[in-house]
Amino acid sequence: MLECETVKKGVACPFMTSKGCNFNGGACHPIVEQCQGCAHILETGEGKYCRICPDPAVKWRLGKCNFATHMKKNGNGKGHKRLNPLKASKRKTKGL
Ligand code: SF4
Repeated sequence: MLECETVKKGVACPFMTSKGCNFNGGACHPIVEQCQGCAHILETGEGKYCRICPDPAVKWRLGKCNFATHMKKNGNGKGHKRLNPLKASKRKTKGL
């Protein structure tokens, strides 16, 4: 794997080729607001980037980033548990 020569200089990256960065736009995209506080943030002279994901906005588009270190998880480790109102109602009638 080649090392980045754009915004994360020196970091080994699968998108780096001998012809330059192959990622969409030719470089990683900066972190988004939701990333603030995450341990995977890498500060470079170019700005703040994610060590893991080249486009952090994508990781938050459909919910919580699965690599985020600054978000509380519930017991099953899969983020917030959403209750099915129908099942909750059935449980309530059974007295559970
Ligand atoms: S791991 Fe997720 S939350 Fe953390 S910096 Fe990367 S994209 Fe943002």
